[in-house]
Amino acid sequence: MAERGKQTVRDLRRGSRSTLLQRLYFEGPLSRQELGQVSGLSAGSVSNVVGELLADGLVEECGSVESDGGRPRILLQVPPGRAHLVGVDVGETQVRVALFDLGLTELAASDHPLSDCGHDSDHVVELILTGLAEVLESTGTDPATVLGVGVGVPGIVEQGDPGTDGAGIVVHSQTVDWDAVPIGRMLRAGTDLPLYVDNGAKTLGQAEMWFGAGRGARHAVVALFGSGVGACVIAEGARFRGATSSAGEWGHTKVHVGGRLCRCGSRGCLEAYVGAEALVERWGRAPAGSSEKAGLAALLAAAEAGEADAVELLAEAAEYFGAAIADLINLFNPERIVIGGWAGLMLGPRLLPAIRDAATAYALRFPRAQTSIDLGRLGPDAVTVGAATLPLWHFLQSGGELPARLAAAAAG
Ligand SMILES: [Zn+2]
Repeated sequence: MAERGKQTVRDLRRGSRSTLLQRLYFEGPLSRQELGQVSGLSAGSVSNVVGELLADGLVEECGSVESDGGRPRILLQVPPGRAHLVGVDVGETQVRVALFDLGLTELAASDHPLSDCGHDSDHVVELILTGLAEVLESTGTDPATVLGVGVGVPGIVEQGDPGTDGAGIVVHSQTVDWDAVPIGRMLRAGTDLPLYVDNGAKTLGQAEMWFGAGRGARHAVVALFGSGVGACVIAEGARFRGATSSAGEWGHTKVHVGGRLCRCGSRGCLEAYVGAEALVERWGRAPAGSSEKAGLAALLAAAEAGEADAVELLAEAAEYFGAAIADLINLFNPERIVIGGWAGLMLGPRLLPAIRDAATAYALRFPRAQTSIDLGRLGPDAVTVGAATLPLWHFLQSGGELPARLAAAAAG
């Protein structure tokens, strides 16, 4: 019983630290008084917890503002240079590793195209570890200052036993032929840094919800439109995961029973009609040997030039995409739908009006009227930013837990 009591006090303290850190991170700089107002904590609690966070170096003073008649109020913020984060995007055509400061400003990035080995898992892990070493070395960053490595992958992620420190993470992906790939254990063999892995569409969703077009929404869907198609469903402000975290495999919902063969092995999936890979293949006129991005850009240019087959193909893609968005609207009643991913951002300016019209034509009127449909704001590299939010979220939720060496350096 005493043990339980002790645990509760510790939990409360951690909860207060987490609340104040999150407020300062997302809304700072703030004064102690403003922190009290937005967090609901008493002035005494704010003062104590801020004192602790200052001592740990997790919060710093950054100027002051005049208050009405009283003494100027000191402003507080989370120091961006206090620690680092790594975000990795295992994309469809390349592996991108980026180093960020705590404020998510990108300090360095390393891009490695996936060669002929494709998504061979040993090869992908090797590229991640190479990229990690490169961004740390090029910036002279001490690995001890890195809070963790977040990895966005094109597949379903099983988190495994949390006690294994990421080593139990397993990925299943039919589209890149990963059958229970133990990516946690494979990465752990090459780095001691804390590991976090999630589906790329979900990391993109987290980034757009925190910093981009989803900010402020409680019910939203962030759609990833790249080579393939995925989605991150946000319900009541939290990601909807399902029983084993595979919820949101929207690209494999059926738009045509018995239709085109999909990379997942099934037929008639949305991805088989509107994914960039499918569009370039269906158009069939991209210059030989061009990359998928170059192929899609050529398709777009042909449509802009008025070539009938390109115009028709993109119009049909917009209709499929809009109809599939109507399904999201009917199923989840979101207030906002955000379209991100490199292909979505490339085609979006041309296709968005037609996508909105198709969504209106296919969705139930009442929920459609409550839903806005917009493009993502974080650019094509949002998956990397989103991946870096995985260790960041752990840091904020834990009330500022630091890796042992970094904590020791602060204490000393
Ligand atoms: Zn499929």
